[in-house]
Amino acid sequence: MALSRCVKLNDGHLMPVLGLGTLVSEGVPKSKATEATRVAIEVGYRHIDAAYFYENEEEVGNALREKIADGTVKREELFYTTKLWATFFRPELVRPALERSLKKLRLDYVDLFIIHVPFMMKPGEELLPKDANGKIIFDTVDLRDTWAALEKCKDAGLTKSIGVSNFNHKQLEMILNKPGLKYKPVCNQVECHPYLNQSKLLEFCKSKDIVLVAYSALGSQRNSNWVDDSNPYLLEDPVLNAIAKKHNRSPAQVALRYQLQRGVVVLAKSFNEQRIKENFQVFDFELPPEDMKTIDGLNRNLRYFKLLFGVGHPCYPYSEEY
Ligand code: NAP
Repeated sequence: MALSRCVKLNDGHLMPVLGLGTLVSEGVPKSKATEATRVAIEVGYRHIDAAYFYENEEEVGNALREKIADGTVKREELFYTTKLWATFFRPELVRPALERSLKKLRLDYVDLFIIHVPFMMKPGEELLPKDANGKIIFDTVDLRDTWAALEKCKDAGLTKSIGVSNFNHKQLEMILNKPGLKYKPVCNQVECHPYLNQSKLLEFCKSKDIVLVAYSALGSQRNSNWVDDSNPYLLEDPVLNAIAKKHNRSPAQVALRYQLQRGVVVLAKSFNEQRIKENFQVFDFELPPEDMKTIDGLNRNLRYFKLLFGVGHPCYPYSEEY
């Protein structure tokens, strides 16, 4: 089964099926994001996943513009995603938030603008606004109004496509059933890997022509700020390792190929040149159905990113099964 390198989104645009993740742990020099993005583009990646929240869009943008300027790629061959952070959900804040990302990137448009999480926080400069007791200060906004503001960004040409992230199926349905909906979300970007294979959400998304984009597909960076590091290491899983050995591949390559074969667009974060290259070598081998089934069997609904900063908000997504 030869895999196509791109998937057609429900608005007609194309999304490359493998993307580079750019979220980094604290303490990693920001210049590493420039280097990693530069290497990735040289290796052949055309999809870069970023976010205002990651605070390195300027550095990622430097690599994009450098690679466009030196003729390695044309702007229209690149697919760049940014995300609307939770403090900018009030409709009047949405376009200025995207314009801020564009200014940092020094680009005229992004390819995809997605709502980062389905719950919202107090507007302001702080990314995680907290009260005197250290508790996150939430906000209340109807997500459908935020969505209408994203639709306007698409109409204004500031983004080619719009979508969501970390939404459960009920929240997706709420957008899809919005009176006067102009554009459907093209994707839902969620945590997805063999320990959390999201089979129900995937089926739901496929039935609505929404692409599921997998993050933490390699088991996350296990950053202790966000992730309980007592969780098992995905890439050390013995079954995944046995399958990898059989195909003379790495467990990471198998974890990525698994997603591609089930129709999931997959992100892989690495800021290491050799691993950036390794993760791109997933188009020249195939997992037979029995291996796909075995990997399906590894599911244990283990979520590395619990989005704990959203617990208590009525829009916190993980109170639903999927
Ligand atoms: P990930 O892709 O699961 O990767 C985790 C770690 O695996 C990386 O720190 C990387 O370290 C290591 N790695 C990469 N390739 C490897 C290989 N071939 N062999 C062994 N180890 C390897 O990480 P993630 O950052 O959690 O997820 C990917 C991207 O998804 C993010 O960067 C971000 O763009 C996006 N994301 C989105 C959300 C959201 O809420 N929408 C949440 C989380 C992540 P090295 O750099 O040292 O190689």
